[in-house]
Amino acid sequence: MSSLVDGKLALVTGAGSGIGREVCRVLAREGANVVAADQNIKAAQETVAYLEGTEHIALHINVEDRNSVETAFKYVMKQFSKPPTIIVNSAGIAREMFLIKFDESNFDDIINVNLEGTFLVTQTAVKAMIEGNATENSSIINISSILAKHCNFIGHSIYCASKAGVIAMTKCASLEFGQFGIRVNAVLPGLIITPMTANIPGETMEMLIKNVLLQRAGKPEEVAEVIVFLASDRSSYINGASIEVTGGIN
Ligand code: NAP
Repeated sequence: MSSLVDGKLALVTGAGSGIGREVCRVLAREGANVVAADQNIKAAQETVAYLEGTEHIALHINVEDRNSVETAFKYVMKQFSKPPTIIVNSAGIAREMFLIKFDESNFDDIINVNLEGTFLVTQTAVKAMIEGNATENSSIINISSILAKHCNFIGHSIYCASKAGVIAMTKCASLEFGQFGIRVNAVLPGLIITPMTANIPGETMEMLIKNVLLQRAGKPEEVAEVIVFLASDRSSYINGASIEVTGGIN
């Protein structure tokens, strides 16, 4: 059986950690050349060192900064002479705080990475695909969160709002880009064991797991496998969808 994404060029943000790192691993296993992009370049380099194959690069990107995003894509074009046709927007942050305590700066931090970052990377990627005549069979996967639909985690109002925005933007982007052959889908992970969730206290973790039908937290590779399926031509008729990867939520 041939590999799922053989010979395709993929760019993953947030590639230095958690879900993004596992997405890079599965993409490489399935034959893609991977650009592992993260604000933490050392972590992105560690990801690349852990991948099968050799045609992968680590790249610095700050997804909330247009200049950084455009510079990153220019570098990719220079290195590979073609734009990436698989884009995974995994860079994200969560900050726990009661809504009454949020100020504009905390609000902007979350919205700028999770929502504006997804916008800037998507826009720059699609422009590069159009300019490079490489829109056919392209796939963009945005990582939202199940909290966008079932917000049962106190202290995450702005995070939930940012992730609900990602679902809405995904749907609207799929309306605009479908005519070019670019699919855009969102994945909504539930509780996944990564550095992002490492500081959740044990009691809270137990409470959250009680709501999961499989009675356990998920592993980043369990999300990555779904993302790589969405990146591949095997999912060629899935577009504008939001796919829950939660173990089932009560
Ligand atoms: P993670 O382990 O914290 O990884 C996120 C990565 O994104 C980190 O390497 C982080 O760098 C990087 N990043 C943060 N801000 C950035 C920026 N401005 N530009 C470029 N890179 C940036 O988190 P994760 O759990 O893998 O989460 C991945 C995605 O899944 C996020 O969008 C998250 O919201 C979403 N998600 C996670 C869960 C979960 O349970 N883990 C559930 C639902 C959704 P630093 O380490 O330097 O900050």
